Amino acid sequence: MKKQNKIIIAIDGQSSCGKSTLAKQLSKKLGYAYVDSGAMYRAVTLYFLQNKISLTDQNAIELALKNLSISFVNKEGVNTTLLNGEEVETEIRKMYVSEMVSPVAAISTVRRAMVWQQQQMGKAKGIVMDGRDIGTVVFPTAELKLFVTADIETRTNRRYLELKEKGMTLTKADVSKNLQDRDHIDSTRADSPLKQAEDAILIDNSNLTREEQLAMVVALAKERIENS
Ligand code: C5P
Repeated sequence: MKKQNKIIIAIDGQSSCGKSTLAKQLSKKLGYAYVDSGAMYRAVTLYFLQNKISLTDQNAIELALKNLSISFVNKEGVNTTLLNGEEVETEIRKMYVSEMVSPVAAISTVRRAMVWQQQQMGKAKGIVMDGRDIGTVVFPTAELKLFVTADIETRTNRRYLELKEKGMTLTKADVSKNLQDRDHIDSTRADSPLKQAEDAILIDNSNLTREEQLAMVVALAKERIENS
């Protein structure tokens, strides 16, 4: 039997469009590693907040980036983010982090450090990574690029239910505002703005079930693996 090549799958899209769920399901199906690049920007943001790093103090930012390390562990099948060895998965999803993450992610020094680490993780291929600039900047030669979108009501409802399940008390209006604020900052920043790569396949999942979306993407991935 022909040995199957491994490929890189880049999934980008706006906040809460369902790309992480899709990336996780796809990585499981293919036996690939999964990396949530958004969690890395969230962990940096948490560190900056904990250590009161000013977003205009370039020296402090550079020092902070040297002092922080981000890694992932698989805990009972769940991908968990570690910041300097400490579990921060729950903390980085909280609204006070969500409110600061886009300004932090717009800083070029921060992006350079994260992109470097992400590229190291993809060296052996066999990886699904989701984010905002994965197909455009991190892996411009990824064999499969997807750009996922859904309308704002769908995205707000999904995120609201997700946070509610985690016991966070928020209104739908808070959630919708945070998503729209982040989308605006992420797509208008000078460095690596959120945009669809020219060779990315657009998937609008507003009216697709998770299963339908997964089946479609697994078929695409298998075809790219065959042809790689
Ligand atoms: O994916 P998630 O919504 O958790 O990402 C949080 C934030 O991290 C985004 O709103 C964006 O500001 C930033 N981000 C980024 N580039 C990536 C992934 C996330 O700028 N590749």
